[in-house]
Amino acid sequence: MAEALSIHSEVDISKLLSSQIAFFEAGNSLDVAERISKLRKLKTIIEEKEEEISAALFADFRKPEFETYATETALILSELKFTIKKLKKWAKPKKVKSTFLNFPSKDYIYPQPYGNVLVLAPWNYPFQLSVSPAIGALAAGNTVILKPSEYAPATSQLTKEIFAEVYTEEEVAVILGGVAISEELLKLKWDYVFFTGSVPVGRIVAKAIAPHLTPATLELGGKNPCIIHSSAKIDLAAKRIVWGKFINAGQTCISPDYILIDKKKKTEFTEAVKKEIKAAFGEDPRNSSDYARIINKKNFERLQAMLQEQTIITGGETAPDDNYIAPTLLNEPSLDAEVMQDEIFGPILPVLTFSDETEIEKIICHYPDPLALYVFAEDKDFSEKILQKYRFGGGASNDVVVHIANKNLPFGGVGSSGYGGYHGKFSFDTFTHKKSISKRATWIDIPLRYAPYTGKLPLI
Ligand code: NAD
Repeated sequence: MAEALSIHSEVDISKLLSSQIAFFEAGNSLDVAERISKLRKLKTIIEEKEEEISAALFADFRKPEFETYATETALILSELKFTIKKLKKWAKPKKVKSTFLNFPSKDYIYPQPYGNVLVLAPWNYPFQLSVSPAIGALAAGNTVILKPSEYAPATSQLTKEIFAEVYTEEEVAVILGGVAISEELLKLKWDYVFFTGSVPVGRIVAKAIAPHLTPATLELGGKNPCIIHSSAKIDLAAKRIVWGKFINAGQTCISPDYILIDKKKKTEFTEAVKKEIKAAFGEDPRNSSDYARIINKKNFERLQAMLQEQTIITGGETAPDDNYIAPTLLNEPSLDAEVMQDEIFGPILPVLTFSDETEIEKIICHYPDPLALYVFAEDKDFSEKILQKYRFGGGASNDVVVHIANKNLPFGGVGSSGYGGYHGKFSFDTFTHKKSISKRATWIDIPLRYAPYTGKLPLI
């Protein structure tokens, strides 16, 4: 499917950035009404191009049209609608309470765009994860250079065309290319970097921008546990997990990576999962138009290798000619197995069991902090204990993946699954420096703070 393409030279890139710096420094991105009007235009164009977006994602990895709408276009349109509605309010200086120590003064927070932003995006939700951070950066008054993934070339090309219909390259430039282009981009000095991708590349990005002390958001991945308690409604859990695990063929940063279920409930659960897979994708998911493919050969082979020497409960079929891997359940792989080393990022779901809470803890704490955690239980004390106890980016009880759809929740990781958060107002805040301003009065000058200090303690 996708081959790396590179159409910008090193010289082009630094020229582009210089033009964006000049644009920003001239104050051209600061007019809030203009920002709103451009975001409105962006929304209209995305609405007009909904079918083209679906076709591009289908070309890239046979992503079903419904999934493209639900997980890419609709999320972006909702983000745009919300941002357009709220931006005027967000962008205003906020008056805050003054303190006794500063009396008399009026104190404010002035939102200020960082300046020139670099967005590096992955291939797995290639439209949403490119456009969503860009919306936040532009709403906040920054310029953007966006490099979408080389592995979703049709979507990346269309994303470039969409931005070009609304913005000049001084405002937003979409640069197509692979690792080499990314490396060139990271050599330049940015005011903010927003990276979504894998943990190892996240480390490369963090290291590359450290010399300039560039602030950043890193949206990375991890092994997301999905705990099922004996009190859970097993049929409903199976239905929701099958949806959240096999959407995008499991290539979702917040999809459940492995199941951790009460031993007594394992068989009931695996039987329910088999039933739900059949209900969703038919007897042979390969023939279903609702089931995506693995993005490329490299990932197909990586996933296929994880199936070796494992006990397969259901699925396991693979077809290299179209990068197909069936929805697959694995029976209790050991923690040493390849499938239990790193984030799976594909339609393979290991089912592990526990007998008591110490076993849950042992497995979860075996891995770095995940991006997501899910717990299924009718026993509210149990689920609350789990949600409070472990460190993870975000998650849900009695469902999977859905927390991403609420723009009132910040989306992001913790520890090795990343830092920073975005969506809705959190996106605006991410790309905004909050300037603290104290406006002092001059009609009085209280002498207490000035030397000589003798006799001035205690103050109160
Ligand atoms: P990736 O890290 O390979 O690539 C992401 C971006 O970085 C791409 O634009 C790529 O061209 C660039 N890149 C790759 N190697 C580079 C290097 N050596 N130097 C500089 N840039 C480089 O990730 P991917 O395979 O595209 O996406 C899958 C990963 O992304 C998974 O780990 C997944 O969990 C994670 N992810 C996280 C989120 C989130 O919101 N936290 C969302 C989606 C995906």
